Amino acid sequence: MKDYFSIAIDGPSGAGKSSLARKLAEAFRFIYVDTGAIYRTLGLAAYRRGIDRKDEKAVMELLPKIKIEMGYNEDGEQRMYLDGEDVSEEIRLPEISICASDVSSHQAVRTYLLEMQRELARKNNVIMDGRDIGTVVLPDAELKIFLTASSEARAKRRMLEQKSKGIEENFEDVLREIEYRDKQDSSRAAAPLKAAEDALVVDTSDIDFEESFRRLAELVVTRLSPESEGQP
Ligand code: C5P
Repeated sequence: MKDYFSIAIDGPSGAGKSSLARKLAEAFRFIYVDTGAIYRTLGLAAYRRGIDRKDEKAVMELLPKIKIEMGYNEDGEQRMYLDGEDVSEEIRLPEISICASDVSSHQAVRTYLLEMQRELARKNNVIMDGRDIGTVVLPDAELKIFLTASSEARAKRRMLEQKSKGIEENFEDVLREIEYRDKQDSSRAAAPLKAAEDALVVDTSDIDFEESFRRLAELVVTRLSPESEGQP
């Protein structure tokens, strides 16, 4: 029997995974692990050094030379460190989103970073979000959710989110970036973005944050209740 519960939330960018996962983690006292931030930190390292991100060998040569670490501040917020420097804000820049998608398409890179993610789930109750959590990282997760929404709805949300951080972006540019990443993340050979067979699909195109949270919280309660015997 496992000592800890794991909840996997996968889906395309902008479906609301991170804000929903963060709030669920707070409500159910799990730790929240944003795995995209790991790929973003590697993407940033490659970007800074001018490395060809599509070249698997070049990215693999970079990995042992850098130190990617994850930590939590006193508010329980995940922070990312690259060689000791806090890069949590910088990795959110739009150009780094593309770099993250590029470096994450290599199988060897994914294998290298797998253990770091699994280790967290061995020692904590986790809500982990990403693209391949239910399919590859935590195939035995007690609850798997695949969160999705139309690309337009996701682009609109991403724009508002960036605006709240003082970053102004144009709708067409955001939509293009989202579609680039959707295509690359879904069509790659290594751990492509797809729902696990036992994942519950939740489409948030026409529901707001509160309603999305309510639905997911209901799934968590049902799955974690002792009577559920693993059935949602
Ligand atoms: O989730 P986020 O948008 O921050 O992820 C950035 C990129 O990292 C994604 O576009 C995807 O290519 C990659 N990623 C991944 N597997 C994960 C999480 C993120 O390939 N588990």
